[in-house]
Amino acid sequence: MRQFLKQIMATNRTFTMIKPDAVAAGHIGGILEQIIKSGFKLVAMKYTTLSPEKAGQFYEVHKERPFYGELCQFMSSGPIVAAILEKDNAIEDFRKLIGATDPAKAEVGTIRQKFAQSISANAVHGSDSDDNAKIEGDFFFSAFERF
Ligand code: UDP
Repeated sequence: MRQFLKQIMATNRTFTMIKPDAVAAGHIGGILEQIIKSGFKLVAMKYTTLSPEKAGQFYEVHKERPFYGELCQFMSSGPIVAAILEKDNAIEDFRKLIGATDPAKAEVGTIRQKFAQSISANAVHGSDSDDNAKIEGDFFFSAFERF
C-alpha cells in the first residue's frame, strides 16, 4: 500500500545542481548532454552562485555532519547550474545516472565517475526523495520560472 501510494503520488521530478568543480572544469555541456540523452526533460534551469549562507540553508540537513563547513564553502566557491528535471521515476533514475557520492565508488559511465574529482567536489547534486525535490526546486525557482 505504502509503495502504491508512493508511486501514484510521485511527481516525476527531481532537482539537480552542477556543482562549482564541474562548472569550473568546463563540464556543463557534457553533463547536460548526458542528462538529456538519458531521457530527462528540462523544466527550469539557471546559472547562479550560492552565498555561504544560502549553501548553508540548502544543506541544513547535514549541519551536524563533520563535512558541513567545508561543503558550504565549496558550494559557494563559484557558479553552479541549478535545474528541475522531469522523467518517469525521476528520483531513482537520476540517482542511478549520477552514481555514488564518492566518485571512486561510482559505476563506470555515471556522471560522477566521469566528471567528479572527490567525495566533496562530486560534480552534481540529485534529490533523494520527491519531497526534497519539491523543496529544493522551490529554493531556487519561483512559480514564474517553472511550469
Ligand atoms: N559530502 C562530503 N563529504 C562526505 C559526504 C558528502 O563533502 O563525506 C558532500 C558531497 O558533496 C555530497 C553532499 O555532501 O554530494 C551531500 O551528501 P549526501 O550524503 O547527501 O550525498 P549525495 O546525496 O549528494 O550523494
